[in-house]
Amino acid sequence: MTSQGQIPPNELLGWYDRARRDLPWREPGVDAWQILVSEFMLQQTPVARVLPIWTEWVRRWPTPSATAAASAADVLRAWGKLGYPRRAKRLHECAIVIARDHGDVVPDDVETLLGLPGIGSYTARAVACFAYRQSVPVVDTNVRRVVARAVHGLADAGAPSATRDHAAVSALLPEDATAPDFSAALMELGATVCIARGPRCGLCPLGECAWRGAGYPAAQGPARRVQTYAGTDRQVRGRLLDVLRANSSPVTRAQLDVAWLTDTAQRDRALYSLLADGLVTQTADGRFGLAGEE
Ligand code: SF4
Repeated sequence: MTSQGQIPPNELLGWYDRARRDLPWREPGVDAWQILVSEFMLQQTPVARVLPIWTEWVRRWPTPSATAAASAADVLRAWGKLGYPRRAKRLHECAIVIARDHGDVVPDDVETLLGLPGIGSYTARAVACFAYRQSVPVVDTNVRRVVARAVHGLADAGAPSATRDHAAVSALLPEDATAPDFSAALMELGATVCIARGPRCGLCPLGECAWRGAGYPAAQGPARRVQTYAGTDRQVRGRLLDVLRANSSPVTRAQLDVAWLTDTAQRDRALYSLLADGLVTQTADGRFGLAGEE
């Protein structure tokens, strides 16, 4: 049995007011599109790497229609080294649909958002909550960890389950207009204080949460594998895209090949996967460019 705990809204909200990071997408006047762009970028990429790219992105393309008018290749160039570049392609497709079908305005309801390219359960709710101040559960890895510890007294959340996770967070949301701030505060707590390794309990507004009160019982089950990057196909894809981003026109196969000399079979595999994903295209004369370049 684990002890069950609560997350007192006033303590959490007071802490959020005092301690939250000044992030540009939280500033007044930042609109739903720009918040949506930040959410695309922040999936799987740390804030510090997103900051300069997001700032330049929204300066250059402040609206869905401005983004839609850019070429896919320019969007991939601007994405830079944020990683997981399929997100850039999906963001471009999302901009095209919003500009064409939604009057250049990001929809405000979760169901419609879920129908847009690249928008999944998390992003739809994050946009509805942070851009439109709706009381919907916003559940990312950080939130799942805080709830597991503070409410259930467990070191880690179990396997994700949208139904269970949404219900758990919905049950915690205040029933007044502070619900969106509570959601943002829960995420912030998981990102900056209740971190995966070495939680900073001395700084935590929740004081002695259920997990801390139980003496930090160890996680059940096998230890989670730490993801590596060096030597993976993902790294090779990144190297090939680096070459293409650095050139304003398509390059020869030989120019691409020097990007990864260690394992030619792996390089071929990475290149074919980029072609299959539509991130790279081959010209009629056999050269390679970013999506759609000729
Ligand atoms: S007391 Fe420690 S473990 Fe509990 S929620 Fe706060 S930071 Fe996390």
